[in-house]
Amino acid sequence: MQVRCFTVGAFQVNTYLLTDEATGQSAILDTGESAELRQILQSLDPAPDIRMILLTHGHLDHAGALTMLQEAWDVPTYLPAAEVPLFDTLPMQGRMFGMPHLDRPCGRIDHYVHDGDTVQLGSTTLRVLSTPGHTPGQCCYYTDKDILVGDTLFAGSIGRTDFPMSDPRKMVDSLRRLMDLPGHLRVHSGHGPVTTLAAELIGNPFLGFIRRERGLQGAPGYSWAPGT
Ligand SMILES: [Zn+2]
Repeated sequence: MQVRCFTVGAFQVNTYLLTDEATGQSAILDTGESAELRQILQSLDPAPDIRMILLTHGHLDHAGALTMLQEAWDVPTYLPAAEVPLFDTLPMQGRMFGMPHLDRPCGRIDHYVHDGDTVQLGSTTLRVLSTPGHTPGQCCYYTDKDILVGDTLFAGSIGRTDFPMSDPRKMVDSLRRLMDLPGHLRVHSGHGPVTTLAAELIGNPFLGFIRRERGLQGAPGYSWAPGT
């Protein structure tokens, strides 16, 4: 699977174009909050064969341009089922974050995914790992080489857990489950550069509690949630 990253919008969110190399079929992963991603994708030559839209979570910067993308590509759209309560607030999230001009309609969801589900993109199977904490239903999509983590994990950091509907205790468990996956997986985050699970397990200061639990040496850890 080819992973192309486009960093767009006021929040500099990483959106992705995932392409199954055997069939050329593509998926958009996350949307930005403006028409910028649509314009970028429509300018690509050759035009991508977009078959689906995948959302990691329902925050404005990741899902806010869904209607604009669906106007251009009327394709099946996937959202974690547990993300519905947050997704439903999209029309007012701009106002919630002090930017009412960014209030956006929700757009259409066709498929609600759960932990352990798979999504087929051509010959590529994407697996779903539910990683709530930053949001109620945040999920990751992964193959045997790459994982798209939304705002679960960043190079050297993790997603904020102080937003409405965040839960730091769930984040603790989600990070443990994420770090049970193979360390060679390339991590494509919602913000910032590419990393790997192995590099984060050793160097990420927010994962000190996992290093302690597993008896691993690494960077000093922050205590950021109860029990960490
Ligand atoms: Zn977010």
